[in-house]
Amino acid sequence: MQLPLGPDPRTETLRRLQSLLIQRFGRIERAAAEWREPEWVLVQGVIGARTKSEISNAATDRLLKRYGSWEEVADAPLEELQAELATQTYPNIAAGRLKGSLSALVERRGAVDLAHLAEMETLPAMRWLEQLPGIGRKIAAGVMNASTLDRRAIVLDGHHTRILQRMGLVPPKATTDRAFEAIMPAMPEEWDGATFDEHHLLMKKLGQTWCRPAMPDCATCLALSLCKTGTERVGNR
Ligand code: SF4
Repeated sequence: MQLPLGPDPRTETLRRLQSLLIQRFGRIERAAAEWREPEWVLVQGVIGARTKSEISNAATDRLLKRYGSWEEVADAPLEELQAELATQTYPNIAAGRLKGSLSALVERRGAVDLAHLAEMETLPAMRWLEQLPGIGRKIAAGVMNASTLDRRAIVLDGHHTRILQRMGLVPPKATTDRAFEAIMPAMPEEWDGATFDEHHLLMKKLGQTWCRPAMPDCATCLALSLCKTGTERVGNR
């Protein structure tokens, strides 16, 4: 006889973690509506490698203001885009990826228009986005979750993935893609798109403070009692 599978214990861990994160860092409100058009979120992600969100947000707004439409941005000379993106950590890479992804969108859709994603299931929509140059799992999930599409797709950056690995919630060396596949089935079913977004932003804060890449401060970390690595390093209190 096959025993029924019980609920995934990671789901309760994620619920408890979210409540501890909110206690420590407070609630995080969603971005302003004008920052949440799917096309805007895609551009912000494409130019945003290793750059603070506020800087990439401002650069995305500047681009749209200067050129008037994303199609005009796609048509702009590469050198001009490199100069426009001087605030980004890697302006040349950002400009090349931006031109590549927007031009591919114009080629496929006739315009920089992602309206068709609203009619698609979340995973097929992410796979469609990932066929565009410069779009990986993180940006695809961001477009589906942090935009007006509001889907239940978890955005995993380096901080978030590292914490999930250390906590033992995904395999220790999981890539972003694998971590996404591993954690999605455990996400609490009552969490909507906005909660996914808030959870990601709170995890990022934890990764920038206690669970830094080198020398995590497990002894005072809010997640210690839920964390495999922390418990091994400090003991369960
Ligand atoms: S207990 Fe340590 S390893 Fe675990 S999340 Fe906190 S800082 Fe990271």
